[in-house]
Amino acid sequence: MVERVFANDRIGRMTAPATELMEFDDVIAAYDPVLGMEVHVELGTATKMFCGCPTAFGAEPNTQVCPVCIGLPGSLPVANAAAIESAIRIGLALNCSIRPSSVFARKNYFYPDQPKNYQISQYDEPIAYDGHLDVVLADGTEWRVEIERAHMEEDTGKSLHIGGTGRIHGASHSLLDYNRAGVPLVEIVTRPITGAGERAPEVARAYVTALRDLLKALGVSDVRMDQGSLRCDANVSLMPKGAAEFGTRTETKNVNSLKSVEVAVHYEMCRQGALLSSGGEVVQETRHFQEGDGTTSAGRRKETAEDYRYFPEPDLPPVTPDPAWIEELRGTMPELPWVRRARIQQEWGVSDEVMRDLVNVGAIDLIIATADAGASPEAARSWWVSFLAQQANSRNTELASLPITPAQVARVIALVDEGKLTNKLAQQVVVGVLDGEGEPDEVVAARGLEVVRDDSALQQAVDDALAANPDIVEKIRGGKVAAAGKIVGDVMKATRGQADPARVKELVLKACE
Ligand code: ADP
Ligand code: MG
Ligand code: ZN
Repeated sequence: MVERVFANDRIGRMTAPATELMEFDDVIAAYDPVLGMEVHVELGTATKMFCGCPTAFGAEPNTQVCPVCIGLPGSLPVANAAAIESAIRIGLALNCSIRPSSVFARKNYFYPDQPKNYQISQYDEPIAYDGHLDVVLADGTEWRVEIERAHMEEDTGKSLHIGGTGRIHGASHSLLDYNRAGVPLVEIVTRPITGAGERAPEVARAYVTALRDLLKALGVSDVRMDQGSLRCDANVSLMPKGAAEFGTRTETKNVNSLKSVEVAVHYEMCRQGALLSSGGEVVQETRHFQEGDGTTSAGRRKETAEDYRYFPEPDLPPVTPDPAWIEELRGTMPELPWVRRARIQQEWGVSDEVMRDLVNVGAIDLIIATADAGASPEAARSWWVSFLAQQANSRNTELASLPITPAQVARVIALVDEGKLTNKLAQQVVVGVLDGEGEPDEVVAARGLEVVRDDSALQQAVDDALAANPDIVEKIRGGKVAAAGKIVGDVMKATRGQADPARVKELVLKACE
């Protein structure tokens, strides 16, 4: 079965019908997918890769620039030692070899957001190479992803297209912000991932997830996909089942969430399947992922490496890290996320299935951090997998992107433990934090959410509820204690959930004695 999707062509005209898609199962029956993941991570260094400009996100445009990062004649780059250190640590964590002497190279191309007309990158001698990352799939299988290289480079600036939809098509003019130009990046490139079959979309997502968790544990980046500090390009190709040679690949850019990684690979497989099975050819090109409908659209035809006229950067010496320093850095490897998870699983005594579910919903590290901030693991778990998961769902975001920190969740849990909040009130406090109303204690104060402890205030509400329900009072007096539930419910309503239900029940029973 083939589905039709309408789309715009490169200059914004409707081209219909644009894209035919093959059913995923049919793709798998006829073809073997091959994947290649390129992940760019913006390092969290204080300054840029080759100059002293700050890297903070969100500053006024063009306030974090200098002659070096806007490529003025005569300016000279100096490599950032902290960025080199991060690159080595990333390489070590990915089980890579670290090159004793690696060189920077100029990658020549014109782009308005790249003021020098070339990007300083690494080419044939990247700092880290030949590694692997073992990722765990949803059913618990371990999948080894081979890493080809991890190299250092600098980020480009940002083009802002004004008017229209924010895309270049239909914009009246474009503005350039060079604050990001020169921010240190490490690009991590996998070897072709073969043999994943129907699990290819899942493997792609699991890989980026594991990589993100690893980079976060290393403390080298804030790994925020929504702010572009972790960016993923997904290369996908299909070859007829059992073929010896890979098919032509496309490289999908702008895949800005973990979910999108999976959706983009799935979509490309179905699109390429339809093309190939109808006798067409896949064009080697970059494609853009559309978050809105989960489709990809054609970008530029892909250049080959020769087109970039790479040559060694003459203004920078080779990077020759002292072997003793590398060994020292090896000693600073944090407890890796999966090692930590195994340890925590033992400590908490939970089953493999439970643990895997927590990992799969993206909750595990948040739960651990919440427990580290003082909450009991049970309470931390229950908050993240139920109420906060619902909130993430209704706010159309991922758990990790919710604007609440594990420390804040731990504080809410502490307020419940101290009896200052009921669970219902605590949920309102969490909503307040998510809505940007401040710290949990501030939300409690501002919204007046604290449990009413004052018996005289409660007594009034209890008396009112009893007076309104003489029949129930009779029942309770007649020994039907369960009937008190209705009165407790009325009192909770009257106090907008701020009473302690256990205390209300005591007061009700006492009044009926
Ligand atoms: P480029 O400069 O074109 O982005 P890279 O070497 O940086 O090339 O990355 C290409 C990625 O695609 C790598 O992860 C590589 O393993 C992968 N790859 C190479 N050939 C194929 C193919 N035929 N199908 C899918 N992925 C591929
Ligand atoms: Mg590349
Ligand atoms: Zn600068």
